[in-house]
Amino acid sequence: MTEPLTRLSDEETLFAETVGQFAREVIGPRVHAMDEAAKLDPEIVPPCFELGLMGIEIPEEHGGSGGSFFLACLAVEELSRVDPSVGVFVDVQNTLFNNCLLRYGTDEQKARYAPRMARDTVGAYALSESSSGSDAFGLSTRAVEDGDEFVLNGSKLWITNGAEAGVYVLFATVDPEAGYRGITAFLVERETPGFSVGKKEDKLGIRASSTTELLLDDCRVPAANVLGEVGKGYKVAIETLNEGRIGIGAQMIGCAQGALDAALGYVQEREAFGKPVAEFQGVQFELAQAATELEAARLLVYNAARLKDAGRPFLREAAMAKLFSSQVAERVTSAAVELYGGYGYTKDYPVEKYYRDAKIGKIYEGTSNMQLQTIAKTLLR
Ligand SMILES: Cc1cc2nc3c(=O)[nH]c(=O)nc-3n(C[C@H](O)[C@H](O)[C@H](O)COP(=O)(O)OP(=O)(O)OC[C@H]3O[C@@H](n4cnc5c(N)ncnc54)[C@H](O)[C@@H]3O)c2cc1C
Repeated sequence: MTEPLTRLSDEETLFAETVGQFAREVIGPRVHAMDEAAKLDPEIVPPCFELGLMGIEIPEEHGGSGGSFFLACLAVEELSRVDPSVGVFVDVQNTLFNNCLLRYGTDEQKARYAPRMARDTVGAYALSESSSGSDAFGLSTRAVEDGDEFVLNGSKLWITNGAEAGVYVLFATVDPEAGYRGITAFLVERETPGFSVGKKEDKLGIRASSTTELLLDDCRVPAANVLGEVGKGYKVAIETLNEGRIGIGAQMIGCAQGALDAALGYVQEREAFGKPVAEFQGVQFELAQAATELEAARLLVYNAARLKDAGRPFLREAAMAKLFSSQVAERVTSAAVELYGGYGYTKDYPVEKYYRDAKIGKIYEGTSNMQLQTIAKTLLR
C-alpha cells in the first residue's frame, strides 16, 4: 500500500527528532545573538558534522550518512524551525555542493572531497555574479586553459557559506562567445593563490548565514578539478538547482512552522477582554488558515523530495514547491507577527526574525518569476 506523503518512516522520524532536539537545545539559545552579530556561531559547526548533517547523502564508504535526499530536506526543515540561517547553511552543503560532487565528480574527485565534506569542510556554490543572477549563464568570470591548469579571473557575488567554506563549486566560462556552452564548473580550494573571499553582505534576514563576494585574480585551478565536462557546466548548474530548490522549500516550511509554533503558544497566554486571545474566533481562524496553507506547502515539498528519491521527474513539482512554500512562509510569518500584537514587532520575541528570514525564499535559487517561468514551460510544452 502507498504510504501517505507526510507519514515518516521509523528512520525518518528518529532523524527528524534528533535534528529537532539539536536545533532546540544547541542552536536555540544562540539564535538571537547570531542574528544581532550577523555571524554563525563557530561552536555550532562541529556538532553539525558530528551529527552527520553535513554529509547526509554522502555514501558511508566515503564517511557520510548514506541517507536520502528526503532526509536532507527533513534536516533543513527541522533546523529552519529554530533558525533558517542554520537551515540554509546545511542546505547548501547537502543539496548543492555534495549533490554536484556526487553526481558529476569523478571517482578520484569523490574520493578526495566526499570524506572531507562529511568530516570537517564546509562547501559553497558560486554561480551568481553582480550582473548575472536570474540570467545566470550571462556570467563573465573567465577560465583560460594553460597546460594542466585553468587560470580564473573575475568575481562572484551573493555566495552563501562564502565565509565558512573551505571549498567552492565555482562556475566560469572558457569561451564567452559560446554563450552557455562555455560554462564550466570547477572545484576551487579556499587556499588557492589568487582566490579570496571579499565583502560580506549586511542583510534583512538570514543574517547569520554568510553571503559573500568571491574574488579570482589569476587563480590557478588544476584541470583535475573540473567538475563534469568543460563547457557542460550549465548542465551541472541546472540539474543541481532543480533539486536544490526543494531544499529551499524545506527551509520555508520550517521557517513558517517555527513562527506558527511561537504564535500558538503566545495566543493561549496573552489575555485581552478578560480571556486568552486564542478564544476569539477571529484569532482561531487566522491560525487555522495558516496551518492549512502550511500543510499544503509541506505536501508540495515532501512530494517533490520523494519524487526525486524515487527517480521520477520532479522539475515542475520542485518549482511549485519553492514558489508556494515561500509565499506561505511570508504570509504565515506575517500573521504570526500580528498575532503577537505590538510585541511581535520587537526583537524581544522571535516572530519578527522569522518574518525577515522568510523573504529570501522568493529570491534565491531562482526568483518567484523564474519558478513561474519553469512551471509555465512544462504546461505549454
Ligand atoms: C541571501 C542570498 C544568498 C544567495 N546565495 C547564493 C549562492 O549561494 N550562490 C549563488 O550562486 N547565488 C546566490 N544568491 C544569488 C541569487 O540566486 C540571485 O540574487 C537571484 O537568482 C536573483 O538574481 P539577481 O539578484 O541578479 O536579480 P535579477 O535577475 O536582476 O532580477 C531582478 C528582478 O527581475 C526579475 N526578472 C529577471 N529576469 C526575469 C524574467 N526573464 N522574467 C520575469 N522576471 C524576471 C526577477 O524575478 C527579479 O524580481 C544569493 C542571493 C541572496 C540575496
